[in-house]
Amino acid sequence: MENKTTQKLKGQVALVTGASSGIGAGVAKALAAEGAKVVVNYASSLKGAQHTVDEIKAAGGEAIAIKADVSNEAEVLSMFKEMYDTFGTIDILVNNAGLQKDAKFVDMTLDEWNTVLGINLTGQFLCAREAAKEFIRRGVVPERSKAAGKIICMSSVHEIIPWAGHVNYAASKGGVMLLMKSIAQELAQYKIRVNSIAPGAIKTPINNEAWETPEAEKKLLKLIPYNRVGETSDIGAAAVWLASDESDYVHGITLIVDGGMTLYPGFQDNG
Ligand code: NAD
Repeated sequence: MENKTTQKLKGQVALVTGASSGIGAGVAKALAAEGAKVVVNYASSLKGAQHTVDEIKAAGGEAIAIKADVSNEAEVLSMFKEMYDTFGTIDILVNNAGLQKDAKFVDMTLDEWNTVLGINLTGQFLCAREAAKEFIRRGVVPERSKAAGKIICMSSVHEIIPWAGHVNYAASKGGVMLLMKSIAQELAQYKIRVNSIAPGAIKTPINNEAWETPEAEKKLLKLIPYNRVGETSDIGAAAVWLASDESDYVHGITLIVDGGMTLYPGFQDNG
């Protein structure tokens, strides 16, 4: 555990959606290490969520797990209520929950489309709306942060890079980009900061077939000029910075954390 006097998020309350695994778990632990009290949201894996909570507590932090499907309005409302009953308010929302349901475009079912848009985009809308209500109600509390609240949307390099075979996912992340920017434009007047993180390839269960064998990892590395697959801690560090006052003048941007994947490495040798 870090020196408590230097913790960047001391006393602030953070909700991280989809924090029972992968990037969400990494972000939850990184925010907790900086002194935030963390709500670890999960949709189905209580075991995963409990593991994240246990790791945070073992490191001297504070966390609770709350179940909610972020695409379900009633469950989102009840999650926010439970969070307020426990921690009183919210300072940081990390809209991280997301999934893929891949299919060739002509074979994609409406259910595959709606499920991905429902969780990856509508889920971010519902949680951001509820957090924004509380940020506006409470306003700035100078001893906590210069901002009234911070919203961090987990986007993807696929808010920029088209992705054949994953059109529902790419459409959801393209949607997150303008959801984030439009909310940022509307909420700046309340001193609410809104930004996104666009991870490249990070080692998590969502994409394990892309890196779990040496052959797969070698193929993946052709897309990553920096020549390593990302870790959840890379995204945790970015989230801490965007949540902290160190980035107080950063608003409405997507922070790309991808080892250069969006540099079009296919053009490295003259295209
Ligand atoms: P992951 O599968 O480990 O995590 C996704 C989490 O979202 C899981 O904990 C899952 O239970 C949760 N979730 C799914 N549906 C939910 C729902 N309805 N309500 C609440 N939670 C739900 O994968 P990950 O890689 O950690 O993904 C986290 C985020 O990062 C996603 O938004 C994903 O699109 C994004 N992302 C990941 C990568 C990568 O390379 N891993 C790259 C770019 C973006």
